[in-house]
Amino acid sequence: MKQSDLNDFKKALKRKRAMLMETDKSLEQDIKKVTDIRHGDEADIAESSYEQEMSFYLKTRGQDELRQIDEAMERIEKGEYGVCDECGGEIPRKRLEVQPYSLHCVDCQEKMEKKVAS
Ligand SMILES: [Zn+2]
Repeated sequence: MKQSDLNDFKKALKRKRAMLMETDKSLEQDIKKVTDIRHGDEADIAESSYEQEMSFYLKTRGQDELRQIDEAMERIEKGEYGVCDECGGEIPRKRLEVQPYSLHCVDCQEKMEKKVAS
């Protein structure tokens, strides 16, 4: 991959990372806020615990993404970016444009998802 392309992906990753950190911070605050209003009436509690669950879910998912972004950035440094972690094949550029932190080519990703689903 060309150095200029790598720089573009690096920028995209950094942007995405900053966005996720922002989201993570506000989710953290949501979770705290909900814990603070725990002594409301029952409807409040039911609603707030649902919101809290959602916040937890989103936070976990965001942290997963952050880990993948960090890994992708490391790969750029090591010159391994854009290579499938599973088969060693090249990850199509189009795929990286949609999801710059992809670690697997489409085939391997699909195989892995099937494994998880079954
Ligand atoms: Zn692969």
